[in-house]
Amino acid sequence: MLELPEAGTLARQLGAALTGRRIVGVGVGASPHKFAFFSGDPGEYPGALSGREVTAARAHGGLVELVLGQTSLLFGDGVGLRLVAAGNAVPGKHQLALELDDGSGLFCSVQMYGGLWLGPAGDHDNPYYRMARDRPSPLAEGFDRAYFDDLVAAARPSLSAKAFLATEQRVPGLGNGVLQDLLFQARINPRNRLSELGEDHLDDLFASLRATLAEMTDAGGRDTEKDLYGHPGGYRTRLSARTLALPCPRCGAGVRRESFLGGNVYFCPACQPVRLAVPA
Ligand SMILES: [Zn+2]
Repeated sequence: MLELPEAGTLARQLGAALTGRRIVGVGVGASPHKFAFFSGDPGEYPGALSGREVTAARAHGGLVELVLGQTSLLFGDGVGLRLVAAGNAVPGKHQLALELDDGSGLFCSVQMYGGLWLGPAGDHDNPYYRMARDRPSPLAEGFDRAYFDDLVAAARPSLSAKAFLATEQRVPGLGNGVLQDLLFQARINPRNRLSELGEDHLDDLFASLRATLAEMTDAGGRDTEKDLYGHPGGYRTRLSARTLALPCPRCGAGVRRESFLGGNVYFCPACQPVRLAVPA
């Protein structure tokens, strides 16, 4: 799934490659997919999109918005985007294809499930979009320690670190993928409860949240995900399915994978103890 670093990377790449390009052809539903969600009738997409010029691309949390003047296409975090130059092989399966005036093609492929929504630019009627648009990005100035402390204060103290960070869109675009390294860097176990975290832990968590997401975004996303050209991101995940067989990069202990809150968590039991020292 795309999360904040990958959505930011895709938006940057889309903006650089497609701004000023015009859509000259639209293909919808080439590969039927039960969980590809369109807004309204997908049969109307070709008429609504043909002839439009790409004016910008933006990321909102884990979502990507391709702006076409007054209208835009919003892609959910389960949609893979691939730009293919003229004459090159196209992806085998896709649910939306846009042909550009230079002969290149943007292919949108839903993985497990995903939205490809057409709507007014900057104003899609989608709750995830609105939350991501209206809340400060963890990469922006507005996401400061006071804002973070407010998020902590508003959450139930019995919430786990994972539930706090990766549910309810408290931090748009922060999901179960980027969570692993973020907690590893802060030396906090995914199961640690907010009530168990002292000021030092919260300092570490806030610092890691900002720094890890920035590092991932600057590197072009995580190496477990693909960019607009099909290349893995340049950020080497410290804890992920790819690194499970490797020792902890900090202390050399064995890394653990456990199912927790609807997804796997990866952690080092030595660096991220389940029982934290009681805060002073
Ligand atoms: Zn360790």
